Amino acid sequence: MPGTVATCLVPGEARPAPPAPEALAYCLTLPASCTTPRIARAATRTILWAHGLSDITDAAVQTVSELAACACRFASAAEVYMSLRYRDGSLRVILYDSHPRHTNPRLAAACDVRRRASLRLLACVVRASDGDWGFGEAREPGGGTRMWAVVPRVGARAFAQADHTRG
Ligand SMILES: [Zn+2]
Repeated sequence: MPGTVATCLVPGEARPAPPAPEALAYCLTLPASCTTPRIARAATRTILWAHGLSDITDAAVQTVSELAACACRFASAAEVYMSLRYRDGSLRVILYDSHPRHTNPRLAAACDVRRRASLRLLACVVRASDGDWGFGEAREPGGGTRMWAVVPRVGARAFAQADHTRG
């Protein structure tokens, strides 16, 4: 309806257009529990569908699942934080957990090895989608660890196709 500006929906009015992929920006606070990866997967599926990005569901949901599971495993507080954002043709997933970065270098290295080992499947999914990932100290107040993954839409689509032809 050109010329009309609607900020709120009144019953009986036309429905607004579905949100564009670029409008995908969500931040969730999740309990650091073993059921959280399942909830994060379901939320991601719904969010992608709502923004017309269902074609990247396979790679995106696996990415979210692995990061959420790792965050919950390492978290030393009751909650973890997840951020989903779609920008420049890629989905950006960030998971924050409260696990502090160790000041002792040997302990820090051992902890990183342990975290990288628990992210082995994530590394495979992201690599197969032509994306990138990593983790490091969270710059947010309260510290902790920030894990991130960038999943390009083109790569995620190819990942889904490869996955299906594999049978
Ligand atoms: Zn540690």
